[in-house]
Amino acid sequence: MILKVPQGKRLTKQRSIILEELKKNRIHPTALEVHKLVKKRLPKISLATIYRNLKFLQSNGYIMSINCESCNSERFDGFTDHHQHFSCKVCQKVYDMNKSKSDEVKVNKKEGHQVDDYQIIFNGICKICLKKEKQYI
Ligand SMILES: [Zn+2]
Ligand SMILES: [Zn+2]
Repeated sequence: MILKVPQGKRLTKQRSIILEELKKNRIHPTALEVHKLVKKRLPKISLATIYRNLKFLQSNGYIMSINCESCNSERFDGFTDHHQHFSCKVCQKVYDMNKSKSDEVKVNKKEGHQVDDYQIIFNGICKICLKKEKQYI
């Protein structure tokens, strides 16, 4: 992801705690879930503050947000390396997908646009939900 990260600027305590929590795992939490996690460390923090800080971190390239049909809400990812996502319409979990070289999106230079970023989200049913479904047939 090619984004401008402010050089030499230190994150506020709130922002670095939010970032830390997002980097602890790859569950791609919603703002509400981030709030729950961060509240354990900053009990007084409000959801509005979380949301504002998430937007800040996102627009400065520290984190990315994922919007997909079956996620039902915006998800946040502390990992901004280019990876793809799979979203399960049953359990609404968002998984990271390892991409292979051949999956690289080729941008047609003739189009003339400058692509800074792209998101690919695969939608479907995850392997855990598939297993559960089979048990009931
Ligand atoms: Zn699932
Ligand atoms: Zn991810």
